[in-house]
Amino acid sequence: MQTFTNTCDGRAVSSATSFESRNPATGEVLGRVPNSSAEEVARAVAAAKAAQPAWAARPDAERKDLLMQVADVLKANAEYLATWVTREQGKPLGGIGPDQVPGSRFELWGCEVWTRVPASLDLPVELAFEDETRRDEVHRRPCGVVAAITPWNWPLLIAIWKIIPSLRVGNTVVLKPSEYTSIGTLEMVRLIAEILPPGVLNTVSGGGEVGGWLVDDPRVDKISFTGSSTTGARIAATAARHLTPTTMELGGNDAAIVLPDADPKAIAMGLFWGAFLNMGQTCACAKRLYVPDALHDAVVAELKALAEAMPMGDGMQPGTVMGPIQNRMQFDKVRRLVDEARAAGATIVCGGTPPGGPGHFYPVTLVTDIRDGASLVDEEQFGPVLPIVRYREVEEAIAAANRLDTGLGASVWGSDVEAARAVATRIQAGTVWINQHGAIHPMVPFGGVKGSGWGLEFGIDGLKAVTRPQVISVKKA
Ligand code: NAD
Repeated sequence: MQTFTNTCDGRAVSSATSFESRNPATGEVLGRVPNSSAEEVARAVAAAKAAQPAWAARPDAERKDLLMQVADVLKANAEYLATWVTREQGKPLGGIGPDQVPGSRFELWGCEVWTRVPASLDLPVELAFEDETRRDEVHRRPCGVVAAITPWNWPLLIAIWKIIPSLRVGNTVVLKPSEYTSIGTLEMVRLIAEILPPGVLNTVSGGGEVGGWLVDDPRVDKISFTGSSTTGARIAATAARHLTPTTMELGGNDAAIVLPDADPKAIAMGLFWGAFLNMGQTCACAKRLYVPDALHDAVVAELKALAEAMPMGDGMQPGTVMGPIQNRMQFDKVRRLVDEARAAGATIVCGGTPPGGPGHFYPVTLVTDIRDGASLVDEEQFGPVLPIVRYREVEEAIAAANRLDTGLGASVWGSDVEAARAVATRIQAGTVWINQHGAIHPMVPFGGVKGSGWGLEFGIDGLKAVTRPQVISVKKA
């Protein structure tokens, strides 16, 4: 059984103890992951700290060129890394392109694109003010050492979202992947760190305790976290002690609102993938659907037909569209929420009963006759279950969308785009999509409001988020 290694200061690092990583589709042990000690975490931060000035001092064009080489390495190793994502995270291999299942190959394609785009962007000096007496310029400086902590749902892509913008502007990085999906991430970093100077990109691995040591290190200059709101709050409390700036991409409970003029057939496929991408284990999936009385049965029928047509199984098998839930804890949460809804009188339109056998498989499940206040509506299920809530007036649906303390994404579906836009502007969410959901793009800023966090990733705003502004103010003669 192979024990994988961390990367620290350009070298492979093992730890005294290690833990298993398992395939969620089969239960098979895939390999062992080092349990980084507190000393190893401190060493990784020290390596990043030591490497940072020289990395930041390199000509911009050199950093850009190296990151384009990182993109080439990701492309060249895409199949190897996609296989790790499928075996460790569960999503099917799938393919790339609009007609393909968005699985691990799509995740690796995303890694390459989310590398090339930030690598090609610049943060030019901004002129804040100028008259005959003074000139005030805003320059962007790297923060220093970025501590990046990632979840298990899109393990490689979310790591890339943190690594590449940070490196682009002259920071160095210490990354801690989720303990559920470490191997693919450690392997990706091992491969791309080969073309970077030692210490520029480092990893540590283990559970929450290891992440806790990392964010509590006073030499960390910026924390970039994606994960649950509960963990985010803990990290924010630690960061407050050191006054370390943070970007927090936290949980969501995105509402999707179907307007009365929507065409159920036309929107069904978009709604389905908006809710069930990666088996619903996506931060910005539609997690509660609001449908007007008149369209309710038609929308449910369209979604049910799609749900029942999607083969579920081991993502390594060709033809698989839906994989397992990634871990037992999440599986138990999904099962509890559906069981509570059923016990309270909701209708399980399809799914609702796990098939049993090895693997954390839970079928795509649609739940109707359910209202706001039910745990399945109010808690983030983060799995293949969608509660569908009827409404009478659009005002009711807007109020329902806004009533929870989350605000990552939301979507509005209708034929009249201007009417949909008017509804969208009233929803409290970082992004409101119209006739699509979760349609992120490397040039478009992404982030949450309310309990879903703060700060932005992607595009120019994402680059700015890993810098600190410095004003150069010149008095004119
Ligand atoms: P989690 O919060 O349990 O874990 C995330 C990471 O934090 C893991 O690496 C974990 O080891 C680490 N961690 C745990 N305790 C820590 C501590 N005290 N200090 C430092 N690090 C600690 O989240 P998860 O279950 O892996 O991911 C699912 C959640 O992530 C969902 O709520 C989902 O909505 C959210 N998410 C958000 C986004 C977004 O962009 N907003 C994207 C993906 C997932």
